[in-house]
Amino acid sequence: MELLNHDQLKELHTLRKWMHQYPELSGKEKNTSLKLESFLKQTQPDKIITGLGGFGVAAIYVFDKSGPTILVRADMDALPIDEVNTFTHKSQTEGVSHKCGHDGHSTILAGLSLAIKNKPFSTGRVVLLFQPEEETGQGAAKVIADEAFKMIKPDYALALHNLPGFEKAGVVLKEGPFAAASKGMIVKINGASSHAAHPEQGNTPAPMMAHAMLQLPEIPKKKSSKLNDFALITIIHATLGEVAFGTNPGKGVLMATLRTYYNDDMETLVKEAEKHIKILAEDHKMKIDISYTEEFPATINDQSVTDIIRQTSEELGEKIIEIQEPFRWSEDFGHFTSNFPAALFGIGSGEDSPGLHNNDYDFPDEVIPHAVSVFYHSLEKLLKKS
Ligand SMILES: [Zn+2]
Ligand SMILES: [Zn+2]
Repeated sequence: MELLNHDQLKELHTLRKWMHQYPELSGKEKNTSLKLESFLKQTQPDKIITGLGGFGVAAIYVFDKSGPTILVRADMDALPIDEVNTFTHKSQTEGVSHKCGHDGHSTILAGLSLAIKNKPFSTGRVVLLFQPEEETGQGAAKVIADEAFKMIKPDYALALHNLPGFEKAGVVLKEGPFAAASKGMIVKINGASSHAAHPEQGNTPAPMMAHAMLQLPEIPKKKSSKLNDFALITIIHATLGEVAFGTNPGKGVLMATLRTYYNDDMETLVKEAEKHIKILAEDHKMKIDISYTEEFPATINDQSVTDIIRQTSEELGEKIIEIQEPFRWSEDFGHFTSNFPAALFGIGSGEDSPGLHNNDYDFPDEVIPHAVSVFYHSLEKLLKKS
């Protein structure tokens, strides 16, 4: 028996296109969560939790015999990007669109709820979690910290991300590090302003900033570095003083993104970058303040969960793509892999699909039934695990 019938697939396409038309930014997924909640109700879960870590929604299905609890997570937020596509389901909100395919991820999870309704499991519990605020790295941590999450207590967790550049519906796997840890570093630099005619009376942050911009990206390449694996520092933003030709600036801000494949390497990279900045600040007699934002832990895939996804995909005859290097981007599912045996896999969205976050990207609906089957049959196996 097929997991989803023709009408249900049509219903899923309609849901996906509705989400694409009415995208909501991270932390503002109010209508998205209401829509998903009403969709889930028709599948009669044993419980629906709303308001999880913001606008998160979870549907809990309890089966006859006791067994493990498996959580499947999809993200649901859109991006502050103006869509250039002209198709009928184009974004109706100026400057906001689903350019990471989270509309597709949520629809796949909605499809999984229909599959479970069609063909319920016999043991354990399944929790379908629609998670808000993935793009800013806030949502997963907020959901896990929510009081209501305590009753979920997953034994295993699963998620996917669609991947342009890979064959449509191909299952992209890797155990261990799958996606990098990343962290936004903000360095506020304070010197002293003066008249531009008398720079010697002030202390401009310009030379320190120039050194920092050139030297920070070199830290991972230093022989003396204690890093064990891949690390990257990218300068992403800088401001210095004001547009005032009569003033020698006294203030500057420098921002960089730090990336590593492992969480312990992130700690090392932070230490080494901070040490470097402090030395530069002393040399240039600057006061500094360092803070962080958009922190994503590394997504580290559990071996046994990855094996189950691999075995399931093989049995389903899906193309399996084993990657050797982790992805350099980050996923806040890293908070789940840090707390539970969990795995994130990729599902190809087509070799010629525009890239994620590109303004012409659109999630390919053809992959929905494939992704639903991989999830459903992986759950079947995981629910039998003790
Ligand atoms: Zn994204
Ligand atoms: Zn994404």
